[in-house]
Amino acid sequence: MTRLDFLVRRLETADHRVTRARLAVLAALTEAGSHFTADDICHRLPRVGRATVFRTLKLLVDLGVVCRVLLEDGSLHYRLNLLAVGVHHHHLVCTDCGRIEDVAARDITLSVDELASKSGYEIDGHWLELYGRCQSCRTDERVGATG
Ligand SMILES: [Zn+2]
Ligand SMILES: [Zn+2]
Ligand SMILES: [Zn+2]
Repeated sequence: MTRLDFLVRRLETADHRVTRARLAVLAALTEAGSHFTADDICHRLPRVGRATVFRTLKLLVDLGVVCRVLLEDGSLHYRLNLLAVGVHHHHLVCTDCGRIEDVAARDITLSVDELASKSGYEIDGHWLELYGRCQSCRTDERVGATG
Protein backbone atom coordinates (compact mmCIF):
# COMPACT_ATOMS: atom_id res chain seq x y z
CA MET A 1 0.00 0.00 0.00
CA THR A 2 1.43 3.39 -0.91
CA ARG A 3 1.49 6.23 1.58
CA LEU A 4 -1.23 7.95 -0.37
CA ASP A 5 -3.45 4.85 -0.18
CA PHE A 6 -2.76 4.70 3.52
CA LEU A 7 -3.83 8.31 4.07
CA VAL A 8 -6.95 7.89 1.96
CA ARG A 9 -7.89 4.78 3.90
CA ARG A 10 -7.38 6.56 7.23
CA LEU A 11 -9.79 9.31 6.21
CA GLU A 12 -12.33 6.84 4.92
CA THR A 13 -12.24 4.63 8.00
CA ALA A 14 -12.82 7.76 10.09
CA ASP A 15 -15.86 8.54 7.92
CA HIS A 16 -14.39 11.55 6.18
CA ARG A 17 -15.10 12.09 2.53
CA VAL A 18 -12.06 12.16 0.29
CA THR A 19 -12.98 15.00 -2.01
CA ARG A 20 -10.89 15.83 -5.04
CA ALA A 21 -9.33 18.79 -3.17
CA ARG A 22 -8.50 16.65 -0.16
CA LEU A 23 -7.00 14.01 -2.37
CA ALA A 24 -4.77 16.66 -3.94
CA VAL A 25 -3.64 17.75 -0.48
CA LEU A 26 -2.91 14.17 0.54
CA ALA A 27 -0.89 13.57 -2.62
CA ALA A 28 1.08 16.78 -2.05
CA LEU A 29 1.88 15.73 1.53
CA THR A 30 3.37 12.45 0.42
CA GLU A 31 5.63 14.27 -2.04
CA ALA A 32 6.66 17.13 0.20
CA GLY A 33 9.61 15.48 1.89
CA SER A 34 10.30 14.79 5.53
CA HIS A 35 8.58 17.93 6.77
CA PHE A 36 6.83 20.91 5.26
CA THR A 37 4.84 24.00 6.10
CA ALA A 38 1.22 24.62 5.22
CA ASP A 39 2.50 27.26 2.79
CA ASP A 40 4.66 24.65 1.04
CA ILE A 41 1.51 22.66 0.39
CA CYS A 42 -0.39 25.75 -0.76
CA HIS A 43 2.38 26.55 -3.24
CA ARG A 44 2.24 23.04 -4.62
CA LEU A 45 -1.52 23.34 -5.04
CA PRO A 46 -2.30 26.76 -6.48
CA ARG A 47 -5.81 25.60 -7.41
CA VAL A 48 -6.76 24.39 -3.95
CA GLY A 49 -7.93 27.04 -1.48
CA ARG A 50 -5.73 27.80 1.53
CA ALA A 51 -8.63 27.12 3.86
CA THR A 52 -8.97 23.62 2.43
CA VAL A 53 -5.25 22.97 2.87
CA PHE A 54 -5.35 24.16 6.50
CA ARG A 55 -8.54 22.27 7.31
CA THR A 56 -7.21 19.07 5.78
CA LEU A 57 -3.95 19.38 7.70
CA LYS A 58 -5.86 19.92 10.92
CA LEU A 59 -8.03 16.91 10.23
CA LEU A 60 -4.96 14.75 9.62
CA VAL A 61 -3.34 16.01 12.81
CA ASP A 62 -6.53 15.16 14.71
CA LEU A 63 -6.47 11.69 13.18
CA GLY A 64 -2.86 11.26 14.27
CA VAL A 65 -1.42 10.65 10.82
CA VAL A 66 0.32 14.01 10.59
CA CYS A 67 2.45 15.60 13.33
CA ARG A 68 3.10 19.23 13.97
CA VAL A 69 6.75 20.06 14.52
CA LEU A 70 7.90 23.39 15.87
CA LEU A 71 11.31 24.27 14.48
CA GLU A 72 13.83 26.20 16.52
CA ASP A 73 13.13 29.38 14.57
CA GLY A 74 9.50 29.23 15.64
CA SER A 75 8.09 28.08 12.32
CA LEU A 76 5.43 25.42 12.39
CA HIS A 77 6.03 22.44 10.15
CA TYR A 78 4.07 19.29 9.50
CA ARG A 79 5.33 15.78 9.07
CA LEU A 80 3.72 12.49 8.17
CA ASN A 81 3.59 10.29 11.23
CA LEU A 82 5.60 7.28 10.16
CA LEU A 83 5.11 5.51 13.47
CA ALA A 84 1.96 3.60 14.28
CA VAL A 85 -0.92 6.04 14.15
CA GLY A 86 -1.50 7.91 17.37
CA VAL A 87 1.68 6.68 19.12
CA HIS A 88 2.83 9.48 21.37
CA HIS A 89 6.32 10.61 20.53
CA HIS A 90 8.61 13.58 20.29
CA HIS A 91 10.93 14.92 17.62
CA LEU A 92 14.67 15.29 17.50
CA VAL A 93 15.33 18.25 15.25
CA CYS A 94 18.79 18.83 13.77
CA THR A 95 19.37 22.57 13.63
CA ASP A 96 22.15 22.13 11.05
CA CYS A 97 20.64 19.96 8.31
CA GLY A 98 16.98 20.12 9.30
CA ARG A 99 16.62 16.35 9.68
CA ILE A 100 13.80 15.27 11.99
CA GLU A 101 13.65 11.97 13.81
CA ASP A 102 10.78 10.55 15.82
CA VAL A 103 11.56 9.42 19.33
CA ALA A 104 9.33 7.46 21.62
CA ALA A 105 9.25 9.29 24.91
CA ARG A 106 8.33 6.98 27.73
CA ASP A 107 10.53 8.67 30.33
CA ILE A 108 9.26 12.11 29.44
CA THR A 109 5.68 10.88 29.68
CA LEU A 110 6.37 9.56 33.16
CA SER A 111 7.67 12.99 34.19
CA VAL A 112 4.53 14.59 32.82
CA ASP A 113 2.37 12.21 34.86
CA GLU A 114 4.38 13.06 37.94
CA LEU A 115 4.08 16.76 37.24
CA ALA A 116 0.32 16.38 36.83
CA SER A 117 -0.12 14.69 40.18
CA LYS A 118 2.17 17.17 41.95
CA SER A 119 0.54 20.25 40.48
CA GLY A 120 -3.02 18.98 40.69
CA TYR A 121 -3.51 19.81 37.02
CA GLU A 122 -5.32 17.58 34.66
CA ILE A 123 -2.84 17.74 31.78
CA ASP A 124 -4.47 17.52 28.36
CA GLY A 125 -1.34 17.66 26.27
CA HIS A 126 2.20 18.82 25.96
CA TRP A 127 4.59 19.76 23.25
CA LEU A 128 8.27 19.03 23.35
CA GLU A 129 10.82 19.14 20.58
CA LEU A 130 14.49 18.40 21.12
CA TYR A 131 16.94 20.55 19.18
CA GLY A 132 20.55 19.78 18.46
CA ARG A 133 22.87 18.39 15.83
CA CYS A 134 22.40 14.95 14.39
CA GLN A 135 25.10 12.34 14.33
CA SER A 136 26.04 12.93 10.72
CA CYS A 137 26.34 16.72 11.22
CA ARG A 138 28.52 16.11 14.27
CA THR A 139 30.72 13.73 12.27
CA ASP A 140 31.09 16.31 9.49
CA GLU A 141 32.12 18.83 12.08
CA ARG A 142 34.86 16.57 13.47
CA VAL A 143 36.15 15.83 9.97
CA GLY A 144 36.16 19.53 9.23
CA ALA A 145 38.08 20.26 12.42
CA THR A 146 40.91 17.87 11.57
CA GLY A 147 41.08 18.79 7.88
ZN1 LIG B 1 6.07 12.96 14.65
ZN1 LIG C 1 22.04 17.18 10.88
ZN1 LIG D 1 5.45 13.37 25.49
